[in-house]
Amino acid sequence: MIRIDARWALTETGWRPDARVHIGEDGRIASIEAAPAQADPRVELHGAARRTAPEPADATADLVVPGLPDAHCHAFQYGMAGLAERAGGHGDSFWTWRERMYTSLASLDAAGLERTATALYRRLRSAGYTSVAEFHYLHRLGGEPGRRASLATALESSQALARAAAAAGITLLLLPVLYRWGGFGRAELGPRQARFALARDDYRRLIEALLLQAADPALRGTLRLGVAPHSLRACDPEDLRWLLELREALLPDCPVHIHVSEQPAEVRDARAALGQTPIAWLCANAPVDHRWTLVHATHATPGELRELRTRGATVCLCTTTEANLGDGFFPVEDWFAAGGRMSVGSDSNVGTDAAEELRWLEYQARLRRQARAVLVDPDCPHPGTALWRRAVAGGRLSLGSDRPGLAPGAPGELLMLSSEPGLPPDDALDDFVFARRVTRVAGTVTPAGLRLESA
Ligand SMILES: [Zn+2]
Repeated sequence: MIRIDARWALTETGWRPDARVHIGEDGRIASIEAAPAQADPRVELHGAARRTAPEPADATADLVVPGLPDAHCHAFQYGMAGLAERAGGHGDSFWTWRERMYTSLASLDAAGLERTATALYRRLRSAGYTSVAEFHYLHRLGGEPGRRASLATALESSQALARAAAAAGITLLLLPVLYRWGGFGRAELGPRQARFALARDDYRRLIEALLLQAADPALRGTLRLGVAPHSLRACDPEDLRWLLELREALLPDCPVHIHVSEQPAEVRDARAALGQTPIAWLCANAPVDHRWTLVHATHATPGELRELRTRGATVCLCTTTEANLGDGFFPVEDWFAAGGRMSVGSDSNVGTDAAEELRWLEYQARLRRQARAVLVDPDCPHPGTALWRRAVAGGRLSLGSDRPGLAPGAPGELLMLSSEPGLPPDDALDDFVFARRVTRVAGTVTPAGLRLESA
């Protein structure tokens, strides 16, 4: 049992003053109640009305909020973050960056992946993320390009990530990716893409092995599984149908994540190959619902967004990566105003700060609208709080939990913040998201335990 006392706790029903949050042995929130008043030593001294001293808290914080889920991450790309920022002299783009990313893989072995992922996950946790969805397609490490992955190599890299998450104490949704083709129309895989490709039977056996591992009660739900067709360019309609049948058989109702409409060229190629844009094709041919997370959706049309909103799907926005790669603008103001579900992801990990993702969502909306405080709710005029609540609710769904915040039964994933005494909680959370003048990370709780950050 972990007990956290907070001056303010952001619960599913709003800010609650002087709260004590109990996290049970199962890694879930057991209760949220009034923090016990401290025993008055004078009362003890005179022996009158002697009472049992309250259990001390394991930690106290000015603010406790749900930790942010990182709903889209490629841990290995952290190893090249900041090292691809020079012009190549011929129209640098997402596609030239992708070539550099492929090159960076040549020397990465399983130990290197585990080191990189451990450093990343620790950094994510110290910056406010308490869970991470790893969109994992690096199914074979090291060696020569051109060789495909096998069950053994896929297990090796998946387990390197699981060990890294355990070392950092961050909850992991592992999304083994089905990656079959080099482009639309069953284009052959390039030699440097071969390491991403798994035969269907090996993919099935990988999922079966990881399911057994995740069921270990000692892990307290800190390792979960979902499925991920990489994109409609890397999975053709037949692959997608097969994958969804496998999901139905082995992990019904688990999260499904897919990259869609990140680049105009991808949208154009989908039209040529499938006769529709990726999102329109998915909605017409797959059971897209609240279990689905569509990553990026940068070039979605208003009609496509209406359809996704109706189906309850979550759009995962990876603003720092999308900005870094020059992807374009997702119409976040319209999506937010329509009540669309959103999560955020660190993606390439060029940005690793939970609040930074939210800050730049708001800033791109301000720059476009030439206005301030755009991403707010009718009941919450503070963008820091409004964005945090939305990104937690959507992020939890992306990671397979229906609980949108702090409440009994919800995942025990908390972020503790220190701030200025007397500052109202909405102002403190705005400060954390936008300025960090006085509000800082004090610690985190995950089902793996409590970790305090040094001031
Ligand atoms: Zn991605």
